[in-house]
Amino acid sequence: MKIAVLPGDGIGPEIIAAAVSVLKALGPKFDLEFAPVGGAAYDLAGHPLPPSTLALAQSAAAILFGAVGDWKYDILAREFRPEQAILGLRKHLGLFANFRPAICYAELTAASSLKPEIIGGLDILIVRELNGDIYFGAPRGIRESSNPLFLGAREGFDTMHYSEPEVERIGRIAFEAARKRNKKVCSVDKANVLETSQLWRDVMTRLSQDYSDVELSHMYVDNAAMQLVKAPKAFDVVVTGNLFGDILSDEAAMLTGSIGMLPSASLDKNNKGLYEPSHGSAPDIAGKNIANPLATILSAAMMLRYSLGLPTEADRVEQAVQTVLSQGYRTVDIYTPGTQQLGTREMGEAVVKALS
Ligand code: NAD
Repeated sequence: MKIAVLPGDGIGPEIIAAAVSVLKALGPKFDLEFAPVGGAAYDLAGHPLPPSTLALAQSAAAILFGAVGDWKYDILAREFRPEQAILGLRKHLGLFANFRPAICYAELTAASSLKPEIIGGLDILIVRELNGDIYFGAPRGIRESSNPLFLGAREGFDTMHYSEPEVERIGRIAFEAARKRNKKVCSVDKANVLETSQLWRDVMTRLSQDYSDVELSHMYVDNAAMQLVKAPKAFDVVVTGNLFGDILSDEAAMLTGSIGMLPSASLDKNNKGLYEPSHGSAPDIAGKNIANPLATILSAAMMLRYSLGLPTEADRVEQAVQTVLSQGYRTVDIYTPGTQQLGTREMGEAVVKALS
């Protein structure tokens, strides 16, 4: 059970340290191998995803990832920017299915900007396709416009596309996930405007015939953005493409009060995965021991369940997180009066204690 541990930049090393202490406190012995990634790797080896880091990720059963990025790297050419490490790992490891649960713990309803009756008990899952869409489509670039109205002006262009098999494989993952939950899939697209979305919708509709026990609905992305704020509990599993999923999953994250609570998993076809918190490297709070490590600890729990086949250990970690919240422990991002504020390290220690 070799786990590649890639802490990255900003708060990455702090939140990963907390998650590693939780893994070490569990019964099974994991082979934890660390490697630099992102800006830290660029500083050390001149590339955000050095060959040795990629080789470790390829040979491991799973990857536990902190976060990458810092504004000081914005001056670098795009291929050397820290965020390229994530895209590179997704591409090289064939990670096409992103799972982002958005759960609002009863203890944290006050930390959400939405009313408790809208958010209390929220438990939805966003399934985002990760390997296709406009993020990877060609051609793309910046050229001289040939539009008579803007002739000669610089214009940017990108290409959106999805093939039927790409939609089908993410669709099946969503239907299968729904079967283990409340048996509802909402497929989000923009089929009233985009051809790519029309094909997406056709494939989802056809697929639904294989899953007659799951209810399929379709929603345009603009409406989905509204409904997520208006009545998020009406959703169960939301499945969508790379671009729409990028935006909607961050919106769903904020419903729960803090992005510091939300884990994610990116899986390949064999359930090997990269596990990371949904947030970024938060350079504004790095090194201050105030970042919330719970999203990373919950990502480690997803890793135990999906890639390492250890559901009991995964349950134990999730239960321990629930326990520390019930005990009133909070990091600053989820703090409300009457609760006890802890630092990153201390929150990790509280989860370790709750495990026993
Ligand atoms: P961010 O998610 O890093 O931070 C947004 C806000 O949330 C900040 O105020 C931050 O302090 C807060 N925050 C984030 N995580 C937190 C935590 N665990 N506990 C408490 N507060 C937390 O997004 P950003 O500021 O837009 O981006 C910062 C850097 O992260 C950029 O370089 C960006 O490219 C990168 N980024 C990386 C990833 C990734 O590694 N997967 C994802 C998103 C952004």
